[in-house]
Amino acid sequence: MAGLKLNPRELREYIKEYTGREVSACMQCGLCTAVCPVASFMDLHPAALVRAVQVREVDLAKLKSIWVCVSCMTCVDKCPRDVAPGLVVETLRQIALKSGIEPRTYSQLLIDETTPSILLVTYSRKSTG
Ligand code: SF4
Ligand code: SF4
Repeated sequence: MAGLKLNPRELREYIKEYTGREVSACMQCGLCTAVCPVASFMDLHPAALVRAVQVREVDLAKLKSIWVCVSCMTCVDKCPRDVAPGLVVETLRQIALKSGIEPRTYSQLLIDETTPSILLVTYSRKSTG
């Protein structure tokens, strides 16, 4: 899959429009990562993902975190700055799906021993736009 790189300014504007939240408000306290049940399975944990969106291009074709997040929204409740990282992840996932990026199939997840079992349970949410 070719890369799908989005510059930070466009991405922040899209996220603001889609979620009503400002990623620039993040103070990198790390609470979202601390409460995320699948952070250790991500390539960019929630706080790092928000930071990436703040400052650099994000290549959605290579980003695993958007398929690993199980949409529990625990991070949304805990964020002291109302950034809602789970909604940021959801926005990136929607952009990826609309851009034709294929999520990993259930069979691929099943044979990948790094896949958290909670993700298998919530898989259908990850593969529909
Ligand atoms: S909890 Fe909120 S303010 Fe803290 S790192 Fe995560 S997104 Fe940033
Ligand atoms: S919504 Fe996603 S990023 Fe947030 S705590 Fe749940 S699994 Fe982690």
